[in-house]
Amino acid sequence: MSHRDPRFDILFDEVAIGPVNAPNRFYQTPHATGMGYTKPRASAALRALKAEGGWGVVCTEYCSIHPSSDDSPYAFLSMWDNDDEKALTLTVEGIHAHGSLAGIELWHGGSHSCNRLTREPMLAPSDRSAIFIQPGQVRAMDKTDIADFRDWQRQAALRAKRAGFDIIYVYAGHDYLPFQFLSPLTNQRADEYGGSLVNRVRLLREMIEDTKEAVGDTCAVAVRLAVDELQGANGIVHDGDGRAVIEMLAELPDLWDVNVAGDLGNDSKSSRFSAEGFQEDYIAFVKKVTTRPVVSVGRFTSPDRMVSQIKRGVQDFIGAARPSISDPFLPRKIAEGREDEIRECIGCNICRSSNNEGVPLRCTQNPTMGEEWRRGWHPEFIPSKGSDARVLVVGAGPAGLEAALTLGRRGYNVTLAEASRDLGGRLINESGLPGLNNWMRVADHRVHMIGKHNNIEIYRESNLTAADVLEFGAEHVFLATGSSWRRDAIGHMTEAAATIETHDRVFTPNDIFAGKAVAGPVTIYDDEHYFMGGALAERFAKIGHLVTIMTPHTIVSAWTEMTNEQFFIQKQLMELDVQLVFGKKLKSISETQITSECIYTSRQSMHDYVSIVLVTGRIAERSLYDDLMKISADWPQAGIRSVRCIGDCLVPSSIADAVHNAHRAARELDAPKS
Ligand code: ADP
Ligand code: SF4
Repeated sequence: MSHRDPRFDILFDEVAIGPVNAPNRFYQTPHATGMGYTKPRASAALRALKAEGGWGVVCTEYCSIHPSSDDSPYAFLSMWDNDDEKALTLTVEGIHAHGSLAGIELWHGGSHSCNRLTREPMLAPSDRSAIFIQPGQVRAMDKTDIADFRDWQRQAALRAKRAGFDIIYVYAGHDYLPFQFLSPLTNQRADEYGGSLVNRVRLLREMIEDTKEAVGDTCAVAVRLAVDELQGANGIVHDGDGRAVIEMLAELPDLWDVNVAGDLGNDSKSSRFSAEGFQEDYIAFVKKVTTRPVVSVGRFTSPDRMVSQIKRGVQDFIGAARPSISDPFLPRKIAEGREDEIRECIGCNICRSSNNEGVPLRCTQNPTMGEEWRRGWHPEFIPSKGSDARVLVVGAGPAGLEAALTLGRRGYNVTLAEASRDLGGRLINESGLPGLNNWMRVADHRVHMIGKHNNIEIYRESNLTAADVLEFGAEHVFLATGSSWRRDAIGHMTEAAATIETHDRVFTPNDIFAGKAVAGPVTIYDDEHYFMGGALAERFAKIGHLVTIMTPHTIVSAWTEMTNEQFFIQKQLMELDVQLVFGKKLKSISETQITSECIYTSRQSMHDYVSIVLVTGRIAERSLYDDLMKISADWPQAGIRSVRCIGDCLVPSSIADAVHNAHRAARELDAPKS
């Protein structure tokens, strides 16, 4: 085994946090799992795995202190009663089994809660509408409510201590209740909890004091604070009230966990809109104001950058949510001198989409994430091969690369054949779109790891036919031949094919990536609603074309609401003067005009156009599969026992789905289904 590079030693220092000691500087900050209180074993297994991977501190996601803070339909933890306490003990035990500290993020959402499950009245500093649109209003807390609230935090902290947690949070991050008291935008009180900053800080100070008094003898009390809510001078800003809050409370907590927030989308911005370490400008002052340890986040995946964070005094820990999801074994890999094997987060925010969709955590880079308990998958260990069969994988996109690597890790002799010279499939083109260059890491990591396996052979520029596959005669064939974009405009809401009278100036993303010349102005018809339509519009606008996006939806790139990117995408397109045409279904394309139909009134309208790009459905590239099926009678003689489609070739979807599907197929070859 290789040894740790001494320049990374500093990352493995022990650090005291109040009465407890973190074994190293790797700190998995709280992050959602989409599991919550309904899946205690799955959450426990996920957190235990992080500890096993070397994260010295492992925190839970937000954990409600009282039924008046209920985030249904999203998954969340709760610490309301003995059952919750018992359930969360599983998580603590899992984390402690690997010598790490267990942190719990006690939470009250205030006007950010939905309370659809509990039907408790919603609470906030001031009377207002709920943040999530619903008929109910939110009630201003009176003095009794505030006293109750302080008691809920105390009681939850005591339960957390009994459950065995080492670090207990007072959570004034994002736009949840204690932060709502801090921000002049949400606190219009006229009593001693509103008005001046001293008054707005009062509740946070009391919460820290209460929590310390309740559990501070043996547990560290951490404060998570948004030092800037990115709402301009009227809100909390890092060089104004944000700094002043930390100055006022500097030595009170045992640890400061600081970020920028307001909305969750700001804190965990995708790589399309932020670079590694993007929060540094906002949080760098904190360590100058307090002697307490400081942690923050910034999608850190490079050990050198981590060391620089510590040495330059930006933070004491390397806080991570997404990098720990993408590679739960990141610290262990650095410890063992295997930093080249880190599966770096690509910043796509598919992980965020799981919570927003109310399903267990998933990750583009790490197909095992969220499957630790349900399927018993481990990111580092995998059952050995179930036979000595040879396997041919056709296509080296995300699915083919993942399948080849996983089969190789299991010990199979694998041949990966790719039609083109470059490996990466769709990633080669998509990572060239504005802001998406980090996405290529999905291919780079796998190609690098495949290079470490001498039982995996790669053939480039090998466009295989059915006859080639037959002649090769591997026992198992995995077809990862991908997909292509539809030319008939059928998409999510466009049920019928458009009448297309000319194809000269009608393009699909495949044509664009193939380098076909597109004359402007450019109309993009987006009935896919993920990143492609918006990203192409951005690209065309940036090279000087007039661009229009027409979509049957009422916003652009609608599904990116799940990845917390939609707001930023629409803002950017509007700033680039991209024309947005909403609620229109494409009906036909003539030489000079596009005809659309209003989704509400069915009224038709005509639009002039020069070039149109159809970003609609995709069709699996199955011609090789179909050809092989036609000669299936010849398989036994060629030694072929099975042929299966994986990834987009099975059904076109996200890269995350392709990788997961390929991983599963490779894991389950000659093995029981998981
Ligand atoms: P996925 O997301 O499922 O991995 P991609 O579209 O990214 O799918 O990748 C499919 C890959 O398969 C592409 O790199 C393409 O060049 C390759 N491919 C398609 N057909 C063949 C074939 N017959 N032989 C070899 N490679 C192929
Ligand atoms: Fe990173 Fe994407 Fe995985 Fe989230 S889903 S951890 S952003 S690679």
